[in-house]
Amino acid sequence: MNYNKKTVSDIDVSGKKVLLRCDFNVPQDKETGAITDDKRIRAALPTIRYLLDNGAAVIACSHLGKPKGEWNKKLTLAPVAARLSELLGHEVIFAKDIIGEDAKAKAAALQSGQIMLLENLRFDIGEEKNHADFAKALADMAEIYVSDAFGTVHRAHASTAGVAAYLPAVSGMLIQKELEIMGGALENPKRPFVAILGGAKVSDKINVINNLLEKADTIIIGGGMAYTFAKAQGGSIGTSLLEEDKLDYAREMIAKAESKGVKLLLPVDTLAATEFSKDAEPVCVDTMNIPDNMMGMDIGPKTREAYAAAVAGAGTIVWNGPMGVFEFPAFAEGTKAMAKALAESGAVTIIGGGDSAAAVEQLGFADKITHISTGGGASLEFLEGKELPGVACLLDK
Ligand code: AMP
Repeated sequence: MNYNKKTVSDIDVSGKKVLLRCDFNVPQDKETGAITDDKRIRAALPTIRYLLDNGAAVIACSHLGKPKGEWNKKLTLAPVAARLSELLGHEVIFAKDIIGEDAKAKAAALQSGQIMLLENLRFDIGEEKNHADFAKALADMAEIYVSDAFGTVHRAHASTAGVAAYLPAVSGMLIQKELEIMGGALENPKRPFVAILGGAKVSDKINVINNLLEKADTIIIGGGMAYTFAKAQGGSIGTSLLEEDKLDYAREMIAKAESKGVKLLLPVDTLAATEFSKDAEPVCVDTMNIPDNMMGMDIGPKTREAYAAAVAGAGTIVWNGPMGVFEFPAFAEGTKAMAKALAESGAVTIIGGGDSAAAVEQLGFADKITHISTGGGASLEFLEGKELPGVACLLDK
C-alpha cells in the first residue's frame, strides 16, 4: 500500500470546481435532530478554508447515518449545512438533492470562494453500491476530487473511490495527516515500535496482530482477547471472554512472535469479578488461574506496571482497544494506566480510533497524544496492512 499520495497543496485549485468528500456523519439527538457533537464538522474546516482561500468553488458532500438508499427527512444534511456555515462564518449553499436538477444548477452557478453542500449521499443507492453512473454524475459537477473523509476510506463507495475514475483525485488535510503519521509508523517507525492491542475480541484483531508481528518490536495484549491467549497456554480463565475457535490461532501467534524475535506480552494478573456489572467487586487474581466463577475484567496492577515499563522506552506506539471494561470505573485502571504511559512516553503515539480513542478522551489524555485517528474501522484496516480503496484511488506523489 502506497501512502505517499498527492494532497491539496500539490495541485492548483484556483478557479476550479472541487468535489470535496467530507465526513459529516455527526451524532444527532434522536428526538429533535439537533447535532450533539460537531467535532467532525470542525475537523473539516482547515481543508475547506484552504480550498476557499485558494480560489476553489467547493462542492462538499457526505453521508449521514444509514438511510440505505431511501430519502429520509430525519437524515437530511440541512442542519449540517447550517452548522458548517456558522463555524466557517461564510454562506453554505444547500442543494435539495444529490445529482438532481437543484444540485446541478447550484454547482454550475457556483463561483470561486463559494461553498455548497449536497444532500445526504446515501439517499441514493448508487453511493454505497458504487454505481458508475452515480459516481460519474457526481464527478460531472466538478473538475477535481478531494477526499477528506478518513472514516470511510475502507469503503469502495461512489463518493469515496468511484469518482476518482473521472477526476484527478487528491487527499485533503485530514487524510494527509492520517497517511503521514499512521503510514509513517507502519512503513518506517521510530524504534522500538510497540503495539498495544486490546478490546473484546481476538477475531476482530486477527489481521492486525498478524500484520504487526511483521513490523513491531513488542506487542502488548490486553482486554477480553487476552483470555483466549491465556487459555491457549493452558491457563484456567473462569467465565472470561473466550473464543474457542481462536485458540489455535493464539498459539500460532505466540509461536510466530517467538520466531520473529517480537516480544509478546500477556497480562500476568487480572482484576476479575463474579458478574459483568459496574458494581462488581474487583478481585486481583493470577491470569492463568482465574477462579471458575469469575471473569477477567481488567489487567491487574503488576501487568499495569510491566506494560507501562514496556511503553516507556518506545519510539513509536500504536494502540487499538482498551485494556479492560473501561466503561465501569472499577475496571478502568488498566486502560487509564496505558493512556498515562502513552502520554508520558515521549514516543510518537497513535491511537487507532474507536473505543481506545473514546477512552483516551474520556480519561483526559487526548491532548498528549501525537495522533488520534478519526476512523475506527478504517484505522483497523490500515493497521491490517489492507489496501484501502479510498486511499488507493488517489494520485501518487
Ligand atoms: P473493541 O471494540 O474490540 O475495541 O472492544 C471494546 C470493548 O471491549 C469495550 O466496550 C470494553 O468494555 C470491552 N472489553 C475490554 N476488556 C474486556 C473484558 N476483559 N471483558 C469483556 N469486555 C471487555
